[in-house]
Amino acid sequence: MAEKKEAFVKEITPQSEDFSRWYTDVVRRAELADYSPVKGCMVIRPYGYAIWELIQQALDRRFKATGHVNAYFPLFIPRSLLLKEADHVEGFAPQVAWVTRGGNEDLEEPLVIRPTSEAIIGTMFAKWIQSWRDLPILINQWANVVRWEKVTRLFLRTTEFLWQEGHTAHETEAEAEEETLRMLGVYQDVAEHELAMPVFAGRKSESEKFAGAARTYSIEALMKDGRALQAGTSHNLGQNFARAFDIQFQARDKSLQYVWGTSWGASTRLVGAVIMTHGDDSGLVLPPRIAPYQVVIVPIPRGDWRETVLPRARELQAGLLNAGVRVMLDDRDAYTPGWKYAEWELRGVPLRLEIGPKDIERSQVVLVRRDSREKLAVPMDGVARTVATLLEDVQRSIFERALRFREDHTTCASSYEEFRQILEGRPGFVLAPWCGTEECEAEIKSETQATIRNMPADRGTPGGRCIRCDRPASVDVYFAKAY
Ligand SMILES: [Zn+2]
Repeated sequence: MAEKKEAFVKEITPQSEDFSRWYTDVVRRAELADYSPVKGCMVIRPYGYAIWELIQQALDRRFKATGHVNAYFPLFIPRSLLLKEADHVEGFAPQVAWVTRGGNEDLEEPLVIRPTSEAIIGTMFAKWIQSWRDLPILINQWANVVRWEKVTRLFLRTTEFLWQEGHTAHETEAEAEEETLRMLGVYQDVAEHELAMPVFAGRKSESEKFAGAARTYSIEALMKDGRALQAGTSHNLGQNFARAFDIQFQARDKSLQYVWGTSWGASTRLVGAVIMTHGDDSGLVLPPRIAPYQVVIVPIPRGDWRETVLPRARELQAGLLNAGVRVMLDDRDAYTPGWKYAEWELRGVPLRLEIGPKDIERSQVVLVRRDSREKLAVPMDGVARTVATLLEDVQRSIFERALRFREDHTTCASSYEEFRQILEGRPGFVLAPWCGTEECEAEIKSETQATIRNMPADRGTPGGRCIRCDRPASVDVYFAKAY
């Protein structure tokens, strides 16, 4: 059994050989997710779900700290409601799943399974909001949504996925914009400080914005194969949905006004982003803050280890648990320490703690970092403190490594020829001036497969000329090939 499993673990395709196969191998071998009998839908397995729960908690804490409350709305949206906002329905129509029958009867009005909840939440906001005193409304929902996808990939693009969607209503345009940017900031904070994943935050182009929004902002991360991944979006809806759903309030001057709305979302896609930001040929590398197990204890089975080593390992486990460390003691008899090392490396556990008879004689344990494979013999006394320090160091180190990778893979292009050259192979981000027209954006996309990821806020007024047409540029934008 042990031998058989060992061979199984070694089946991960190297990143350099085929990144996409490497990704699928890691997701399946580390038991994060699996294909399901439902086309386009995945099963999130317990280890993958545990990572998602930690990401959820990190987001939820921040949502609450910024004044939001959680609520829940129906899975179904009546057809008539979806049709109310023209751009919204046009954007989502190709991806919508319909329910046309209930029990033995055809429905009078077909229902869509929510692809997003602006329509249903907007309808409720119209009931709940009468006066400026009712504003702002700051609501978040944790939910599943369905978008009919033709090509799917585990975590990155599936027909059903889990996410959160924030929906807010405000008295003024300025407040709505402030909220939109605040939540973009929350996403950036979670990406960088919890997932150790550096992101570019900025505004989307008109063609890439959310269907029905006035403005869309995103955070964009860089995967190890040089492709960008949109990791969260925040939309200023202006008054578009308020007009469509008649969300009006009596203003301070007694006039009747439409509210200003926002919505923002992040999904289980973030799990895929973490895998492709940090993983290596041995498997996952998890940031300690979202690792289901931050430490795995592997006792070395020599002599009467069950009487000598195991009790010490249990004490260490209890001590670490007390110190708030998520720890797993792998005392399974059926596997060798070597097999366990490979298994927990594959699963990305940040620190391994080895303890054997010799370590006990010396009152020490051996700690091995997943990120650098550095091996340290440390005193058994005060090991919880050492572990806490090391976990912080791993968290920081993998962020810095990802940041260096992004810096090495972010270039500025000064001519279209150079631009096209960079975009062959594994390019990363290319910062280049753009005239702001959809024609140039579309031509660049068809000629290089690169899309505008976003426009950084601090690079608003460049002096350059459009990389494609050479007319004066209005903004600098990040281009990349993207997931
Ligand atoms: Zn142009």
